[in-house]
Amino acid sequence: MALAGIARLASESELLEAKRGVQYFEMAARSILNRTSPRMPFQWTINPYRGCELGCKYCFARYTHEFMEMDASDFEDKIYAKSAAAQLLRRELGRVERKEHIAIGTATDPYQPAERWFGRTRSILEVFVRERGRRLGITTKSDLILRDLELLREIARGNVLHVNFTITTLDEKTARLLEPRAPRPALRLAALRKLDEAGIAVGVFANPVMPGLTDGERQLDRLAKTARDAGAQWFGGAPLFLMPSAQKVFLPLLEREFPELVARYRELYARSAFLDGGYKELVARIRERYGLEAGPIGYRPELWEGEEQGELFPLQ
Ligand code: SF4
Repeated sequence: MALAGIARLASESELLEAKRGVQYFEMAARSILNRTSPRMPFQWTINPYRGCELGCKYCFARYTHEFMEMDASDFEDKIYAKSAAAQLLRRELGRVERKEHIAIGTATDPYQPAERWFGRTRSILEVFVRERGRRLGITTKSDLILRDLELLREIARGNVLHVNFTITTLDEKTARLLEPRAPRPALRLAALRKLDEAGIAVGVFANPVMPGLTDGERQLDRLAKTARDAGAQWFGGAPLFLMPSAQKVFLPLLEREFPELVARYRELYARSAFLDGGYKELVARIRERYGLEAGPIGYRPELWEGEEQGELFPLQ
């Protein structure tokens, strides 16, 4: 059968490097900016890589490798760097209104190990350094973001920039099982603190909150307090979204490490990949305890122009 669309692009991609069983490819991309649905809190996304070596067992984005006619487990071993990312962005940025929110790293981590060698995220930030009045958010689990601290500072001087760190748990052992190749939670918190000290608005999302694993009120409370003490201005958490492609990787982990939870998960996710309504009140209660906001700063350039934006928070 002839391969079509993204599967054909993947099959034609040039092998860049292979390491510890991870293979890196250069992928021809037609565009770098993607329009989101009106339900999302941002209008555009940028994901410089397809696949993510950090390999979180629960990762919902595994299905994107299935589009390329690969297995969900290939998601962390076959990494595609989008070619000419900066050129594409320069060409496409004219379509974006200044107040529209551009989110970097919504499907794969922009600071995964591949970024050390291929620098696609950095090349994108170099485009935004020359912009004024843009609204930009970055989501990551990696302290590699500190490599770009000076660039981020420069962007934040002329644009609304915020950085979200994803931290599901402070427990190192649980984190190692769930997020085997991601930097330790303590390293993420240290990076968050450095960004805050540099005047960049930062927050933490405990996504995904996992029943029986990371959803205890004391656990989330400690996480929120630690994040606040490190400089986080907002805190959020939503339940695990467990698509069939993620189930293929997540359920075997449960069977191996947390067998007592398997029946509960099978029941919870029997009918849908979504969990109804979970954790809204719990997370709101915890937020209130520590004076944290629900999300990043709003687009109010008139209030911060020429100022360090971190000093002007909160601006919902
Ligand atoms: S860091 Fe994010 S994108 Fe990468 S594997 Fe983990 S959840 Fe998926």
